[in-house]
Amino acid sequence: MYKLNDAGMAIVESARAVAGSTLASTAVETDSQARFPRESVQALRDAGFFGLTLSPEVGGQGQPPRTFAAVVEELAQRCASTAMIYVMHVSATQAIAASPTLTGKQELLSEIAAGRHLTTLAFSERGSRSHFWAPVSRLESGGNGEFVTSANKSWVTSASHADSYVSSAQQPAAGSPLESVLYLVDREAAGVQIGDGFDGLGLRGNDSSPVTLNNVAIPAGWLLTELGAGATAMLEVVLPWFAVGTAAMANGLSRAAVSATSRHLSTGRFESTDSLLRDLPNLRARLAQMSVRTEQSRALLAHTTRAMEQPDAMTPLFVLQARLAAIQAATDVTDLAMKACGGAAFSRQLGIERLFRDARAGWVMAPTADHLQEFVGRALTGLPLF
Ligand SMILES: Cc1cc2nc3c(=O)[nH]c(=O)nc-3n(C[C@H](O)[C@H](O)[C@H](O)COP(=O)(O)OP(=O)(O)OC[C@H]3O[C@@H](n4cnc5c(N)ncnc54)[C@H](O)[C@@H]3O)c2cc1C
Repeated sequence: MYKLNDAGMAIVESARAVAGSTLASTAVETDSQARFPRESVQALRDAGFFGLTLSPEVGGQGQPPRTFAAVVEELAQRCASTAMIYVMHVSATQAIAASPTLTGKQELLSEIAAGRHLTTLAFSERGSRSHFWAPVSRLESGGNGEFVTSANKSWVTSASHADSYVSSAQQPAAGSPLESVLYLVDREAAGVQIGDGFDGLGLRGNDSSPVTLNNVAIPAGWLLTELGAGATAMLEVVLPWFAVGTAAMANGLSRAAVSATSRHLSTGRFESTDSLLRDLPNLRARLAQMSVRTEQSRALLAHTTRAMEQPDAMTPLFVLQARLAAIQAATDVTDLAMKACGGAAFSRQLGIERLFRDARAGWVMAPTADHLQEFVGRALTGLPLF
């Protein structure tokens, strides 16, 4: 589907192996206990996935978005919480890699590529809600060229486990929330306070907890962008990787729902008539619909990731559409799976209810389905995004 070269195929094989062993064996407990999937994240560290998209100069594998998409799709089929943690890590890593200002950038990227540093995004705030592009927190001058900030970050995936957060704030004396800056926060820095653990409907293992920053000192060398360049970095650097990653996660969930439904329809038996569930045409029709939506979404994502390698004016629109199509498909496909498999899906035995719950997170993560529709509609009618 993603037209990978031999190196890319070998990487995806490796992702499939990790997903089929460690992720598959811990996913149910990760979900039921809402516990961070340490073993799965460790397996990704050990297998070299932390530096998948980083350049070989820092020890990375230099892989493009299409390989990232194919890897995430494999992970999400087994444990979407782990896939989400990984998507946030890679998206934040791209902000670090693109930074023109970070002191010690090469050393940090080497640590990431070696699997010794997990990072994540801390964009959403209590005050900005899902409008991540408009932070309400602000960096203030702390003297000696340093900065200080306080913020209520509302959801930070891997909050208690990431080594650093890629965070956003308004620049000092900003005239608008769009005059922002990205900066790096050490999770163990003085003033960082992590809230109660995450207890959500889906993606229950990903520890997306609130984090409060209380007068946290930010050295000038920890700025990830120039002052005022935060919104551009969020939209042009982070968003494409986040969109591809979350689209792939949604596609993985859809694929898992198609497989589980197909298995159940092929084995569930009515003893009185000696027939199988698959003998009912309405259930076959639901499965066909599920498959069509899944493959449409995967094809759009594959097209988008190829376009990202030689971008033109339409590429950003495809990126937004690929995420929108995938999160819509995953909510619809997992809903159809629940209906096709009946009470067996409603109970935990088939694992379909977990896919159904996990798929709903993609819809509300910013940019949400509403934002994406608005952005795409504005772009198609020649209006500015904001
Ligand atoms: C599992 C999970 C993990 C997350 N992880 C992270 C993370 O690691 N880092 C991070 O920064 N954030 C993270 N988030 C936060 C996420 O990106 C959103 O910011 C959050 O879900 C917004 O919730 P809210 O209640 O504030 O939404 P609200 O902003 O209150 O939105 C409520 C509804 O209004 C709609 N809406 C909002 N604005 C508009 C508009 N302009 N036009 C039309 N409709 C609109 C929304 O689509 C939504 O349906 C995570 C969220 C979840 C669920």
